[in-house]
Amino acid sequence: MLGAPLESVETGSGTPATGITSTGYASTVETEATMMAQQLRARLEFYRDLGIDTIYRKPANVSTRVEAPASGELSITASPSHESRSGVHSTSEAPAATPRLAVQAAGKSDIVLPAIAPEDDTLLKIREDMGDCRRCRLCEARKTIVFGVGNEGAKLVFVGEGPGADEDAQGIPFVGRAGQLLTQMIDNTAAKEGIPIRRDDVYICNVVKCRPPENRTPQPDEMEICGQFLYRQLMAIKPKAICALGATAMKALLNSKLGITKMRGEWQKWNGIPLMITYHPSYLLRQYNQEAKRHAWEDLKKVLHYVYD
Ligand code: SF4
Repeated sequence: MLGAPLESVETGSGTPATGITSTGYASTVETEATMMAQQLRARLEFYRDLGIDTIYRKPANVSTRVEAPASGELSITASPSHESRSGVHSTSEAPAATPRLAVQAAGKSDIVLPAIAPEDDTLLKIREDMGDCRRCRLCEARKTIVFGVGNEGAKLVFVGEGPGADEDAQGIPFVGRAGQLLTQMIDNTAAKEGIPIRRDDVYICNVVKCRPPENRTPQPDEMEICGQFLYRQLMAIKPKAICALGATAMKALLNSKLGITKMRGEWQKWNGIPLMITYHPSYLLRQYNQEAKRHAWEDLKKVLHYVYD
């Protein structure tokens, strides 16, 4: 239970090096151990804020874990199997890949993260848990939390990067120029392909729910903190497929080292759910991106036919 004394939780960082006489080394190790305890405490408190009262260790093949690759970067890999809960099954079109919510961050850790989506989660409950969120620095300049919009029972979810100025003002994702292009892409492609859906039939949200200052790319810790809400949204909706718009959404969902030009257009998987990666509409708005536009329309056609045929 989260209410248990946090000091009794093992961090995996080892015993604080109080017996080491080399003061520089001892203080370094001690500082690292203290950091680990602080990080663990912060994480547990964060889960409690999310309304999660119980944590448990999952079997190794379904656990969410933190890996420390040789590069020294921390790779946080959430890989619980949710196929039985989501009812989503792989298809021959969607080759198996490691399902995960993944974020790169500085540091090192062996913390085994708990599952973070409560049973019977709903978008309403997630929004209530989010409240007037101040869990990361993006709260400082935002006007509005942009949670998500669309059909809670959607078969298809689009995930973008974060709100821009128009979205921040209106509290709705993808309403600026890029959003209008996304609407056109969905509505026109569906109409052309004889698929009876419109933008309102899908669900649209972002990796971070508050506008980053100057529309900068969200930082890894912001993506990790707010990513917990994205994780819950996706697990609550359980769509037939997800479409990640742009490199930031791709990184949040797939942790690929490859660039978006290599990853787009091919099926991946996130937690057992087929995932298509394509360009962000704001990238497509640039004049010289005719080829990218064609690719994005092809990717969208592939997604729409897979989900709605
Ligand atoms: S970006 Fe997400 S985690 Fe950060 S303050 Fe906004 S809602 Fe909270």
